[in-house]
Order: sequence, then structure tokens, then C-alpha cells
Amino acid sequence: MHACMQDCQGKLMTSNANEKCEAFRICICEESREQSQKQEKEENMADKKLVEAITAMEDDFAQWYTDVVKKAELLDYTSIKGCMVFKPAGYAIWELIQRQMDDRFKATGVENVYLPMFIPESLLNKEKDHVEGFAPEVAWVTHGGLQPLQERLCVRPTSETLFCDYYKNAVQSYRDLPQICNQWCSVVRWEKETRPFLRSREFLWQEGHTAHATAEEAEERTIQMLNVYADFCEEVLAIPVIKGRKTDKEKFAGATATYTIEALMHDGKALQSGTSHNFGDGFAKTFGIQFTDKDNTLKYVHQTSWGTTTRLIGAVIMVHGDNSGLVLPPRIAPTQIMVIPIQQKKEGVLDKAYELKDRLGAFRVKVDDTDKSPGWKFSEQEMRGIPIRVEIGPKDIEAGKCVICRRDTREKIEVSLDEIETKAGEILDLMQKEMLEHAREHREEHTYEAKDMETFRKLFAEKSGFVKAMWCGEQACEDQIKEEMAVTSRCMPFEQEQIGETCVCCGKPAKKMVYWGRAY
Ligand code: ZN
Repeated sequence: MHACMQDCQGKLMTSNANEKCEAFRICICEESREQSQKQEKEENMADKKLVEAITAMEDDFAQWYTDVVKKAELLDYTSIKGCMVFKPAGYAIWELIQRQMDDRFKATGVENVYLPMFIPESLLNKEKDHVEGFAPEVAWVTHGGLQPLQERLCVRPTSETLFCDYYKNAVQSYRDLPQICNQWCSVVRWEKETRPFLRSREFLWQEGHTAHATAEEAEERTIQMLNVYADFCEEVLAIPVIKGRKTDKEKFAGATATYTIEALMHDGKALQSGTSHNFGDGFAKTFGIQFTDKDNTLKYVHQTSWGTTTRLIGAVIMVHGDNSGLVLPPRIAPTQIMVIPIQQKKEGVLDKAYELKDRLGAFRVKVDDTDKSPGWKFSEQEMRGIPIRVEIGPKDIEAGKCVICRRDTREKIEVSLDEIETKAGEILDLMQKEMLEHAREHREEHTYEAKDMETFRKLFAEKSGFVKAMWCGEQACEDQIKEEMAVTSRCMPFEQEQIGETCVCCGKPAKKMVYWGRAY
């Protein structure tokens, strides 16, 4: 068999002598050109359709977000209102978050446990503040089979009370402390309005619960876990966060102090990305969690809890995504590299693509060998946020090179096939680092300062982002600001700045600098 020398994809071949092929050459190639032009036109329209299906984020950020979630095939709606299906591409991101976060937990001595999903009503009712905080959104089980239950059971909205019930028995002596437990599970909160990854009636999360002999140790653990979250967000998700303490108004029901990490989304709204609570000995006193200390006296334990949820995936979408879809930081990308063969029907192209996949085996790599056009494959790789694609075609093979294209910057880098392993690794590392820097720049550009109410109002009327302002510490001022501007205090950052002497709201002497914002 002799393939036509022209670019007709090898479809038109002659088994006869070279002369015959030469004789057919012109007409073959014209036919193939016409055919390929027609094909290209169809493909372009199809590619355009795929991209057009996403609303531009400048036009409607909320719709853009929903479009990305759907088109990147992360989640799907179900017949249960407010509950979602995690599709393979979405669940794989959660698995990578889980695995890497769990490693970081364990490095600090955390052990995983699993507690029941039901809480008896009497147990939930024990802590007054706690139950008031959760009662409006609790789902109840009233029957076991056909029999009404003697006592209603709630489906856990969080597990503080269950952990207290457990620690009450597990902790007797100072030798049983500390207890550093975590559980990966789902919880149920009957939310009225739901949003993919950000708010759903059942959601996946982790909740850590610890018990300590002293108040100092509990406080240390509370801050330690906040730091684990902050480092995780920056190093793995490439999302910079502000670490700080919540005001009393915004703290967790039943906590003496709540610490938070706050991230800024592309639209200038804040997203609380993880929280860590110090409960002091409040829960211990309510639930009777006591231990005999070294000095032989009976003492109450000091407790903490800390949690992150699949909201982190929402944060990744809203911090890094663009109008072509998802952009995943390499460390949580289920597929880090997509090898896309160009003219894959040409001899040797697919073999080379598979060979590259093998050589890139240290990464999460795939070959798109479907019969879709390269243009379609590019759009798909972009929509799904795959960090880099490797383009390899006959001409590249001949020249001993390939082209690596970065999802975030779309930069095309020519790489010699000999050094593809090292180069791909370097590019992924660089991308991870630059995505964080880019997100940090965006946050800095959207962080403002207000010294008086007029500036404060103007900023929230005209801009979107964080506004830093001084606060007197009175809840009345916080309430007034929230009511008037529909913004909340995000946190009192650990890194305080003295941007003024007086409270932005009442003019009395200021105690703390606060980050304010509209939040998800
Ligand atoms: Zn004030």
C-alpha cells in the first residue's frame, strides 16, 4: 500500500504503482482539501457551541458558576431538592482534597473515627446555644420502619454532641488525653436556598473534635488546625486566605472563640473556607466530661472542633476559573496532563502519544484518543480545567518536540521530547506557584480601606471586595453596618493594621481592624 504524499489523512490510497498515485495526486488532494475545509467548518461551529454554552462571568457570575459546574461535569441535580450528585470529575477533586488534607492532619497527630449519623433529641438539646444555632435547619427521623420512635432522632447537622457523649466515657484519666479525632462524613442542614458545592442539604465535610487537659493546649490546637487549613489552601488549592478571629456575633453556636480563613472570589465576594472553634470547658460542663488529673483532682476537659467542606471546590472554581471553564491547580487536578494527538490517524502519532503517556507516568496523565477534532479536544480540556495539554503531531515527531500549553495563561511552550518529563514537572510546579500569586494579586487589588462611614458606604456601593475598617468592638456598630450595607464582618485578622484611631461606625476609640465583605 502506498499512502498519498499529500495531506489527505491517508484515507485515499492506491495499491498500484507510484505513477498512479502521482497521476491521482491533484484530484486526491483537491478532494481532501475540500473535505477538510468542510470538516473544519463543522468542527469550529461545534467548538464554538461548547464554549458559548458558558455565560461570561462579567455578564452573570452566578450563571457562569452554574454553567462551569455543569459543563465540566462536576455535579448534577437530583430528584431530591437541594441534594446533588458528585459526578466522577467532581468527586475525584474531593478525593484529592481529602487525601492531602488527611495526610496533613495525621502529621499533627490526628486519628480518624466514625460516629453515628443520628443524634437523639435529648442529646442535641443539652447545650442551649448550640441547639438554638442549629434547630431551624435540622432534619428529623420520626419512625423506625412503621413504628413511631419514642424519641425523635435528628440527622447530624454537626457532631459536637455525639463527640461529647463519646468522650464522656472515653476520658477518665489525664492518661486518656488529649483526644485528637477527626471524621470524614456527610451532614444534613435543611437549607432553603442551595447552590452547587457552596450550600446543599446534605454535604460532605470533615469535622475534627479534640479534648485536652488544659485551656492552653486547646487554644494551641485551635490555632494549629487553622494554620493547617490556611497552608492547605495556599499550597494545594493556590488560594490565599486571611486568617483571623470571628466577632462574637459571627462565632459558632456554643464556641468561646471561632477562628476562620477567608478567601476572596473572583467576583469580589468572600468565602469562609474553613473554621476552627475553641469551646473552652463549656460543652464539658454540660455533658460531664471529667478526668482525674495528675494531682488527683477531678477536672473538666477543654475542647475544640474544626471543619472544612466541599465549599473548597466552589472556592477553587470561583478563584481560578475563567470564561473557558474550570482552571484547576495541578495539585488537585484529577488529570494533570492531557496528551492530545494531532492528525492521530497518521502513522506513528497515536503510538507516540501513548509513549508520552507512559513516560509521564509520574503525573496523572491521559491521552485523548477519541475521534473528536483537536479543536474540540482543546475546548474540552480547557472546560475541565486540566492544567496542561501536550500537543503532538507528525511534524512535531519529525522535529523531536511537542507543544505544552498551560491552561491558566494559555502560554504555548515548545519542549524537546527528550526532556518532556522534567519540563512537564517544572511547568506544573510553576503553574501551581503562579496561580497562587495571581490570586493574591487579585485579592490585593480588591481590598480597600475605609476610615469613615461615607467612604465605607461608597466602597461597598461601587466596588466589590474586602474593606478594612477599624471597629470599637460593640455589636451595635456591627449590626448597624450589616443592616445598612448588607455586609458582614469576615474576621479580625491576626495581622492587625492600625488604619485609624476610631471606629468607622460610631467614632469611639477603635479596638480592632476588621475585614468586611459580602459573603457566600
Ligand atoms: Zn463603634
